[in-house]
Amino acid sequence: MSTTESPPGPPPGGHAGIAQVRSLVTTVPGPRSRELEHRRSAAVAAGVSSTLPVFIEEAFGAILVDVDGNSLIDLGSGIAVVGVGHAAPAVVEAVRGQAARFAHTCFMVTPYESYVAVCEELNNLTPGAGEKRTMLCNSGAEAVENVVKVARHATGRQAVVALDHAYHGRTNLTMALTARNMPYRDGFGPFAPEIYRVPPSYPFRDPDGMTGEEAADRAVELIERQVGADNVACLLVEPIQGEGGFVVPAPGFLPALARWCAQRGVLFAADEVQTGFCRTGTWFACEDEGIVPDLVATAKALGGGMPLAAVTGRADLMDGVHPGGLGGTYGGNPVACAAALGAIETMRTLDLARRALILGEAMTGRLRALQDVHAGIGDVRGRGAMVAMELVQPGTAVPDPDAAKRIAGRCHRDGVVVLTCGTFGNVIRLLPPLTIEETLLADGLDVLGQAVDAELA
Ligand SMILES: *Cc1c(COP(=O)(O)O)cnc(C)c1O
Repeated sequence: MSTTESPPGPPPGGHAGIAQVRSLVTTVPGPRSRELEHRRSAAVAAGVSSTLPVFIEEAFGAILVDVDGNSLIDLGSGIAVVGVGHAAPAVVEAVRGQAARFAHTCFMVTPYESYVAVCEELNNLTPGAGEKRTMLCNSGAEAVENVVKVARHATGRQAVVALDHAYHGRTNLTMALTARNMPYRDGFGPFAPEIYRVPPSYPFRDPDGMTGEEAADRAVELIERQVGADNVACLLVEPIQGEGGFVVPAPGFLPALARWCAQRGVLFAADEVQTGFCRTGTWFACEDEGIVPDLVATAKALGGGMPLAAVTGRADLMDGVHPGGLGGTYGGNPVACAAALGAIETMRTLDLARRALILGEAMTGRLRALQDVHAGIGDVRGRGAMVAMELVQPGTAVPDPDAAKRIAGRCHRDGVVVLTCGTFGNVIRLLPPLTIEETLLADGLDVLGQAVDAELA
């Protein structure tokens, strides 16, 4: 038998024939999607909601094809997950091959190489040249939980400080860390104890002229007075807040916090679940101001669409946990690890960090032009291909969530998937696959521009 035969089944990238153009053949949602929506509401718990009730049949690159044959432009990437695009050939090939070899052994029972290879990649790619170790798990929330486990174990301290507008997940501990009540926390308490929240730097909403250092002082003063630095295991921050509204802190904020952490024996933990893997124009958003976190949580884009998450951190902290103290049945599943290696290879070979900057310029330019003519766009912000606009009552900072809903709804009906976010629900965010063709992105932005013109007129 030949040892070079290709894996069984159709060739990888079998969906490569899907044209990268928007095309609508029915209203959105179409009749098939509406039928499925009926079945769904009789079968699926109402608490699990969807941004738009369009059922997807297949996807490639930045195009989603629904069950009615409509081709929609995906400017959300399944919430920053398919940075490498849908059905990226290297991911498809890796998944297919690994699923046929074995899908599970449990790394805690009998290990396999791909888990180790993903950890090596993360140790090398995350900020900082020091000795690092990584553990793998299944979701962003689980990664954040493990950050807290490692930080408490290493410091012998209990308190965890997060920021207002933070989003860290939906498990009990991460609900406690998450700032927004509706829909994430309401009715789900009691929450894990020893969690504290302090204000971030939010330039659009902070007092005029407040610098990053001043915002850091405001946060530190509260921690020192209300919690006590000696009680704090870690300060957990999203370098750019995701669900909270794509809040980019003023320069100097994160470095000042990192310096304070180092002085006070508090671990600096970065939640790069949404910002990681080239999204902001670098492998990780912390790189922008030279921050080297003690611990980093990653997930979303890591697996190229497969569920995979990780904690990467200083070797002394990570190795301080006793054998058996970290893990989980599915953590670092072999198919997910294979997908991650394919995704990371794609990010590297296509230089997606550079592409994120190019796409970001196109998006920011377009949103700024809209802001020039619409006083209802209070702020345009972001970094790389993580870009958003915050909608307000014209001439004020009063949030206008209804405008965001109307604009997003119009985009959806016209075949462009955009997501909203923000503590006040008034932010429209753009997170296209980093492989999106520029002409397709331009068409998506045209649709968004028309929606803004129509709804803010
Ligand atoms: C999405 C997200 C999480 C939670 O990840 P899940 O995989 O949904 O558990 C945590 N932190 C940030 C910053 C996120 O964007």
